[in-house]
Amino acid sequence: MFPAHPNPSFDMAVLLERQRSAFLKDGPPSLEERKARLKRLRAAVLTHRREVGDAINADFGHRSRHETDIMEIVGVIQSIDYLTRNLRCFMKPERRHVGLLYRAGRAHVEYQPKGIIGVMAPWNYPFSLTMIPLATALASGNRAMLKPSELTPRTSEVIRRMLEGGFPADEVAVVLGGPDVGAAFSRLPFDHLLFTGSAPVGRKVMKAASDNLVPLTLELGGKSPTIVARGHVLGQTADSIVFGKLSNSGQTCVAPDYALVHEDDLDTFITQFGASVARFYPSGPTSRDYTSIVNDRHYDRLKNLIEDARTRGARVIEVGVTPERAAERARTLAPTLIVGAGDDAAIMREEIFGPILPVRSYRTIDEVIDYVNARPRPLALYYFGARDADCEKLLARTTSGNVGINNTMIHVAQDDLPFGGIGPSGMGAYHGIEGFRAMSHAKGVFVQGRWNLPSLLRAPFGKITDLALK
Ligand code: NAD
Repeated sequence: MFPAHPNPSFDMAVLLERQRSAFLKDGPPSLEERKARLKRLRAAVLTHRREVGDAINADFGHRSRHETDIMEIVGVIQSIDYLTRNLRCFMKPERRHVGLLYRAGRAHVEYQPKGIIGVMAPWNYPFSLTMIPLATALASGNRAMLKPSELTPRTSEVIRRMLEGGFPADEVAVVLGGPDVGAAFSRLPFDHLLFTGSAPVGRKVMKAASDNLVPLTLELGGKSPTIVARGHVLGQTADSIVFGKLSNSGQTCVAPDYALVHEDDLDTFITQFGASVARFYPSGPTSRDYTSIVNDRHYDRLKNLIEDARTRGARVIEVGVTPERAAERARTLAPTLIVGAGDDAAIMREEIFGPILPVRSYRTIDEVIDYVNARPRPLALYYFGARDADCEKLLARTTSGNVGINNTMIHVAQDDLPFGGIGPSGMGAYHGIEGFRAMSHAKGVFVQGRWNLPSLLRAPFGKITDLALK
C-alpha cells in the first residue's frame, strides 16, 4: 500500500499521519468497537498460534511450542480477555469531589484515548511483548504502530502478516527493521510510546521522545534479586527458582538474576537446585522444553560471564549436563550455578539474561537489604520464606518494580496487577487498570451548576473571602 522509500522514517511518518487523520475523523471508538477490535485480535492470535510457535522456534534455534504457548500465547489471550471483561468499568467517567465554594457544579474525569501509540518490542518474548501492549492500546481506544525486534525476524514477519490480515493500516501498522528503524521510529511524534528493551537503548529512546515531548512507558530490565530465608530451601523453593531461571533459558526480564541464600543453607540449595533441574529437564540441555540462546553474540557473552567469574575464583557448577548430546543442538548452555562470585565479577554487575545463577551467602536480613539497596532498583524482587518480620522489613526497606513471595515470575501473569520497573528498571507500568490509564488521557471536566456560586469569586472581591478561609 505504501511504496518502498529509501528513507524509512518517511514511510513511518506517512503512516502515523494516516492513523492520526483516521483517529480524528472517526472520533474515539465506543465500548462495542473496542471490544470488536479485541475480538479480532484474539481470533488472529489463535489462528496464527502454530505459525508463531514455529517462527519463534526457528528464530531461537530451539524453543518448544509448549513453552511458547504457556509463556506467550496464554498470556496474550488472558490479557485480551481481562481487558474485554473490564473495559466497561475502565471507561466509565469517574465522579470527583467538588470543593465547598464550587458545590453547585459537578466534576468528573473522562478517560480519553490518547491517539496513536508507538510500541517497540524486544526479542526475548517477541510475540507477547508486542501483543499485550497492542491489546492495551486498542482497549484504551487508540490506534497503534508496532516495531518488533530484528533479532527474531521470522516472528516479526508473522506478526506483520497476522496484523495486516486483521486490521487496516490506519488502525494497526507494523514497521520492520533494526536499530536504525528503531531510532527513526522513536523520533516520531506519537501520543504515547511504550518501549520494552534494554536500559541503554531505553535511554536513547527517551531522549528521542523528549524532542516531541512524547509521554512514554519504559519497560526495562536489570538484576532481580532472589532471597531465600534461613531454613527455607525447600523443594518448592528450588522448583520456583528453576522455573524462573530456566524458562526461555533465563532470557526473561523478570528472571531471578542472582540468589542470596543463608550461609547455613548453601549446600542444601545447590543440591535442591540440581534436583529440580533434573525433574524439569530430564535430558539436561537437550530436553524438549529447554530453549536455545537466541544468537551467537548472546551465547558468547554468557560463556564469557562464566569464564570471567571462574578466573576470579568463583566455583562454577554445571547442572544436568549431558555433554555428548548437548552438542547436537545449537547454542544450548547448561544450567549453571556460580558460587561465591565477588562484586568485581561481571556476572554480579551485568544483567545475565541466560541460564546462569550466581549464588551468594548472607548472614542477616539487614545485610541483604544493604546489598540490594546498594544496587540499581530492580524490576522484580523475590523472597522465599514465612511472612514474618524479616519479610516485612525487606519489603518495606527495598524498592523494586514488583515483588514475588514464594514464587518467581507469576506476578506478571496477574492481569490485574501493574507491571513495570522503577528508575533504571523502568518507568510507568502497564497491565491492569494502570495500562489502560497509561494509554488514556485523564481529562478533568468541571460542569457549572445552576446556582452560579463561582460568580462570587470574581471582582469586586471581599464577599466570600471570610467564608473561603474559615
Ligand atoms: P534492545 O534494547 O536491544 O531492543 C529493543 C528494541 O529497540 C528492538 O525493537 C530494537 O530493534 C530497538 N533498538 C535497538 N537499538 C535501537 C536504537 N539505537 N534506537 C532505537 N531503537 C533501537 O533490547 P533487547 O536486547 O531486544 O531485549 C533485552 C532487554 O529487554 C533486556 O534488558 C530485558 O531485561 C529487557 N526486557 C524488559 C522487559 C520488561 O517488560 N520490563 C521485557 C523483556 C525484556
